[in-house]
Amino acid sequence: MRVLVIEDERRLAENVAHGLRENAGYAVDIANDGEQGAFLASTNEYDLAIVDLMLPKLSGQDLVRRWRSEGSRLPVLILTARDEKATVVSLLNAGADDYVAKPFDLGELLARAKALIRRGKGRPAPSLRVADLEINTVERTVRRGGRVAHLTPMEYRVLEYLAHRPRAVVSKEELLEHLYDYNWEKFSNVIEVYISGLRRKIDAGSEIKLIHTSRGQGYALRDESDAAAGSGGGG
Ligand code: CA
Repeated sequence: MRVLVIEDERRLAENVAHGLRENAGYAVDIANDGEQGAFLASTNEYDLAIVDLMLPKLSGQDLVRRWRSEGSRLPVLILTARDEKATVVSLLNAGADDYVAKPFDLGELLARAKALIRRGKGRPAPSLRVADLEINTVERTVRRGGRVAHLTPMEYRVLEYLAHRPRAVVSKEELLEHLYDYNWEKFSNVIEVYISGLRRKIDAGSEIKLIHTSRGQGYALRDESDAAAGSGGGG
């Protein structure tokens, strides 16, 4: 998952980014004013934006209004220094999904961030399931058939992203965009490595393979025995 943090207090932005990277395994980009945030959001794919309310150049509220008027469904968590009811109400009416009042507890912010990402993907439960594969997104643990799979942090990130889009074929570019920050191009050859690691740790030894490659198109996490009348046809 990739998160955009728009916050002009640089230390706070760094702390939030650090928490998201270390505790949730997310890729994070930081913008220090509203215009830079608007630019990043229009040029990258994010799974969540964490937006300070009072920002130079363009306020958090302006950003939310703009995104919603453009039809963007990007989940937005607002950071507000003022917890006046009127502000919060108008923020939510403008299309923000949630807010946290400063000073906030980082653990609470992370929990809210994770919940918004799950809801944004249409999977509100903290645990994702595909056949006998279970991914606990709170503890970041993975089990296949009840057996714990010991994934590296990057393998976990790839798997979690695929699990949020069950059955869909996800391109390598989409994975890279959502798993890395703005430097992602330089990682373009590593996805295959993570996929083969996942195959070894999740599929090896199981009769039903869950990780599928569509040549030239991407990867999918699915239980093919599910699709009874399967569309077949190799690629
Ligand atoms: Ca501010």
